[in-house]
Amino acid sequence: MSKNYEECLRQIEKTCEIINKINGGCEQPVCSNKIGLSCHELDILKAPKRIIEVSVPVKMDDGRLKIFTAFRVQHNNVRGPFKGGLRYHPSVDLDEVKSLAFWMTIKCAVADIPYGGAKGGITVDPSKLSQGELERLTRGYVRAMADFIGPDKDIPAPDINTNAQIMAWIMDEYSSIRGCNEPAVVTGKPIEIGGSLGRGTATGRGGFFVLQNIIKKLDFDNRDIKIAVQGFGNVGMNFAHIADAHGYKIVAVADLKGGIYSNDGLNIEQVIEHKEKTGSVVGFADSKDISNKELLELPVEILVPAAIENVINKDNAERIKAELIMELANGPITFEAGEILNKKGKVIIPDVLANSGGVVVSYFEWVQNIRHFYWDLEKVNDRLLEKMNMATDIVWKYSKEYKIDMRSAAYFVAIEKLVKAFKIRGI
Ligand code: NAD
Repeated sequence: MSKNYEECLRQIEKTCEIINKINGGCEQPVCSNKIGLSCHELDILKAPKRIIEVSVPVKMDDGRLKIFTAFRVQHNNVRGPFKGGLRYHPSVDLDEVKSLAFWMTIKCAVADIPYGGAKGGITVDPSKLSQGELERLTRGYVRAMADFIGPDKDIPAPDINTNAQIMAWIMDEYSSIRGCNEPAVVTGKPIEIGGSLGRGTATGRGGFFVLQNIIKKLDFDNRDIKIAVQGFGNVGMNFAHIADAHGYKIVAVADLKGGIYSNDGLNIEQVIEHKEKTGSVVGFADSKDISNKELLELPVEILVPAAIENVINKDNAERIKAELIMELANGPITFEAGEILNKKGKVIIPDVLANSGGVVVSYFEWVQNIRHFYWDLEKVNDRLLEKMNMATDIVWKYSKEYKIDMRSAAYFVAIEKLVKAFKIRGI
C-alpha cells in the first residue's frame, strides 16, 4: 500500500489548526499574532516545486529493450538544495514519491540542516534484474535527471533497495556528464570514493540517540524495557544492533518473510549472522516464529516500525500495546491510526525526527566532499548525537509548551523555520 499524498498533507492541516488556536482564532495573513505565523503561509508547502517523470530505456541481458518509469519530486528548496533518497520498488508511483519528498522538507527543517526536500523512485523490482541491468538502469536514470540534480541543486541518497554501489554509479555517471569529479552530487557513497564514515549505520544510530533522549524524558529508564523491531534492513538491523549492544532487550524482529520472538531477548549479532546465511531472520534458533502482524501487536514497551509505510492503520491501531512507538520507517502510521493512538495516550516519535540521522550524516558527507577534508568516525558520531539531541529537545519542548503530540510539534518546528526562510527571502 503506497502513501497517499493528500492523506500525508492532513498533518499540515492539523498543524494549521493548532497554530490558529494558539493565535486565538485569527486567520488573517497580515495580522500580528502570538507566534508570527499564519496558516495561509502553509499553503506554499502543499505543492511540490517540481515534478519530473521520465521513461528510462534499458537494454536487458537477453537483448530486449525495456522501458522503466522513473520519478524525481523536488518538493521545496527554500532552506537549501533539494535532498532525498532514491527508491527502487515495484510499488513506486508519483503519489508515494511526492509524499516522501514532502517529508524530506519537514525532516531537514526539524534536524536543522540547510537542505530542502526531494525524493526519487523507479518502478522496478530490482531482485529481478542482473547487476549489469541494474547498473544500466541507474546510469540511464542519471542521464535523464542530469540537468536537475547536482551538488548545489539536488542530492540523491540511498533508500529502499538502493545502496552504496548504486550511489557510486550515480556519482560516476554524473561526473562523466559534467567532465569532472563530482562526489558531492550524491551521498551514501562507498568510503573509497568520498563516502562518510558512519553513514551506513547513521539512520539506526540516530534513531537510537533520539530514543535514549526520550526514554530519559519519560522517566522510562529503570524499567525492564522490551523492544520489537519490524524491518531488518539497513535501518531496523542497525538500530536493533546498537540498542542490543547498549543493553536494551530486543524481543522481536521481522523482515518481509516473517518475524522471530524470544521473551528473554534476542542476540542480535547472531540474528544478523543467521540472516546473512539464510536471507531472513525466520528460523533463528532459540526463538519462536511469528508473523509481521503479531509483531506489531506484541505486549512490549517500545515498538519500532522500520520497514515500510502504513503498517499501523485503522484496522490494527486499537490493538497496538506498546506505550512508545518510534517510527524509523517513513510513514508507518497512517494519519487516522495516529489519531487513535494519540487518544489512547501512546507516545509516537515521528519519522521526521526519528529517522533523520541518515540525512544528517548525508549532510556531513556532502560537507566533507565540498571541503575535501574527511572526519574520523568519532567526530561523525559525536556530531550526529549533538544534532539528534538538539532536534529531539526542541520537538519535546514544543510538545510540552503547546500540549500537542510530538508529530504536530515536529511539524510546528519545521514550519516555523520554513516560513521564516520564505519571509526573509521575500517569496
Ligand atoms: P532496506 O531495504 O534496507 O530494508 C527494509 C526491510 O524491511 C527489510 O528487512 C525487508 O525485508 C523489510 N520489509 C520489506 N517489506 C516488508 C513488509 N511488507 N513487511 C515487513 N517487513 C518488510 O530499507 P531501509 O533503508 O532499512 O529503509 C527502511 C525504511 O526506513 C523505509 O521506510 C525508508 O524510507 C526509511 N528510511 C531509510 C533511511 C536510510 O538511511 N536507509 C533513512 C530514512 C528513512
